[in-house]
Amino acid sequence: MSKPSFKPESLMMSHGYDPHLSEGAVKCPIFQTSTFAFKSAEDGKAFFEVAYGLRDKEPDEELGLIYSRINNPDLEILEDRLCLWDHAEVCAVFESGMSAISTVLLEFLKPGDLLLHSKPVYGGTSHFIDKILPQFGIQSIGFHSDHEMSDIIQKVEDSGKRDRLKLIYVETPANPTNALIDLEICRSVSDYFKTKSNSPVIAVDNTYMGPLWCQPLTLGADLVIYSATKYIGGHSDLIAGAVLGNKELMTRIKVLRTFLGNMTGPWTGWLLMRSLETLKPRMELQASNAAKVADFLRNHPKVEKVFYLGHLKSGSKMHAIFKKQYSSPGAMISIDIKGGEKNAFIFLNHLQLFHLAVSLGSTESLAEHPFSMTHADVPIIEKNALGLTDKMVRLSIGVENADDLIWDISQSLNKIC
Ligand SMILES: *Cc1c(COP(=O)(O)O)cnc(C)c1O
Repeated sequence: MSKPSFKPESLMMSHGYDPHLSEGAVKCPIFQTSTFAFKSAEDGKAFFEVAYGLRDKEPDEELGLIYSRINNPDLEILEDRLCLWDHAEVCAVFESGMSAISTVLLEFLKPGDLLLHSKPVYGGTSHFIDKILPQFGIQSIGFHSDHEMSDIIQKVEDSGKRDRLKLIYVETPANPTNALIDLEICRSVSDYFKTKSNSPVIAVDNTYMGPLWCQPLTLGADLVIYSATKYIGGHSDLIAGAVLGNKELMTRIKVLRTFLGNMTGPWTGWLLMRSLETLKPRMELQASNAAKVADFLRNHPKVEKVFYLGHLKSGSKMHAIFKKQYSSPGAMISIDIKGGEKNAFIFLNHLQLFHLAVSLGSTESLAEHPFSMTHADVPIIEKNALGLTDKMVRLSIGVENADDLIWDISQSLNKIC
């Protein structure tokens, strides 16, 4: 019988690791070392030539292990495994999602350049774009899910900087409203402004839906970015990030990572490999629990509106984007609770199984109040324009028993009179 090409979930326990190089250990050990011994001075010289780009790698040459800021087996094997989910050539892991995002922004934007980005984006990303990039003379333009392609092109033209558009940065679905951005439109915008000497790079923050339910690289994106703190880590016990893409762009990212020194350590790399073994069953259970919770919340007398991708109306623009880009509605639900902040807080304060905490994508279910917590520093007019009001509660659904989650939500909503 011929061997099939194994699916990523089948390879998460073995890919890229040879037990016989590590005393037969079935699990990859933690290579808790800062530096690696060279077999000879000639080897050391050859490894540095490749690592510092003084010459290209020979076709069958592997970069030798040098120093854990440059490479380490726990990081390299983890990166090879992450590539399988996203159909990527190269991956780089970072010490946080923010360090992955800021490294991408700094590598592709130079003084005088223009950034085009979707809105809303994660609070930390938004701070970096609005407060830090301007210090380097980098201007940005935002667009949201209601904008048509022609609106976006007009905004870029109006800036007078069409030839300096270097990066299109997208977060979809938007946090916490689940609004969707059409990646095909982003690709067309990049192609529209492409010249002989400039091809705007499209980077997608896929934290909410990846790597299981969306593969942006197959939908026209050049780079995919993660907060691996969320679904990839999945146990609320680590902070990490990742960027994936083709060899050419990722070489640039990896060189900047080497000199910023913001790679993860071996211990976090090892924890992430542990997490990847259960990624698919975790995410599938979270999504099936979320579907049950969302259906319960729909038409609940204390709930004004449910923001859940599984409830999009077929025939709507959002539903068409959803069908094109995602294989599941995911496990993030936001709800508007009738009565504003007061009742939202009563609900949050009476939950017994859900934790009242920010973050998402983990085994345990979490609830928070975006208006006053994750999105506290977004200007109020902007929040209102996005439908992010003080009645909203965001739920990240975990792997608990769905009936228990529904019981908890129900008893807590009943505390509102
Ligand atoms: C959490 C998060 C980030 C930031 O990641 P950290 O690991 O906390 O640095 C970026 N983008 C999204 C969508 C997130 O949810």
